[in-house]
Amino acid sequence: MSSVYPGDFEEIARFHGHVCPGLAIGYRAAKIAAATLHSERSEDEELVAVVETDACGVDAVQALLGCTLGKGNLIFRDYGKQVFTIISRNENRAIRIALKSEALQRTAEQEALLRKAQSGTASPEEAREYAAFQKSRVDELLSMSEDDLFTITEVTPEAPEKARIFKSVVCHFCGERVMEPRARIRDGDFACIPCSEVYSRGW
Ligand SMILES: [Zn+2]
Ligand SMILES: [Zn+2]
Repeated sequence: MSSVYPGDFEEIARFHGHVCPGLAIGYRAAKIAAATLHSERSEDEELVAVVETDACGVDAVQALLGCTLGKGNLIFRDYGKQVFTIISRNENRAIRIALKSEALQRTAEQEALLRKAQSGTASPEEAREYAAFQKSRVDELLSMSEDDLFTITEVTPEAPEKARIFKSVVCHFCGERVMEPRARIRDGDFACIPCSEVYSRGW
């Protein structure tokens, strides 16, 4: 990894495992959220992130903003969109950060190269070309103006409830514990989701 990147970007790259354009998008979004909402990092649950993608950028949001699945302040909506809504409980504000559709245009040639690299059919020369393209994309994403990169809007904060502790019940079929709101009933007994799905598929 080159040392030209900002220190905090290097840190999240270590967490994520590699440097890639998706990580750079999440990094820029997280930095903008932190600056706008005056919060560096969520130690408890003062920041909540609602992410509409499960791609690389989410790791930047987790590492930089402290919004994590385990703490209950990272909410994933499977929309396949590069959109990050960050809510501040302290300031009772939220901003929605959406990648502009024009931000990452690729030429037909770059598109073809990408396809070859991702399907593993690139020649060594093409693989080098692809790596150089990805690197230049990261540099571009890190230096682009906010306005060229994102559409940023203040939205009404709709923070979900703080993480709750639920009662658990024992699944009659596998003997494992399951939190009550996720439990199902199968033949009059508690069942966890996997055990109830076996049932609903007619086995
Ligand atoms: Zn990545
Ligand atoms: Zn079970």
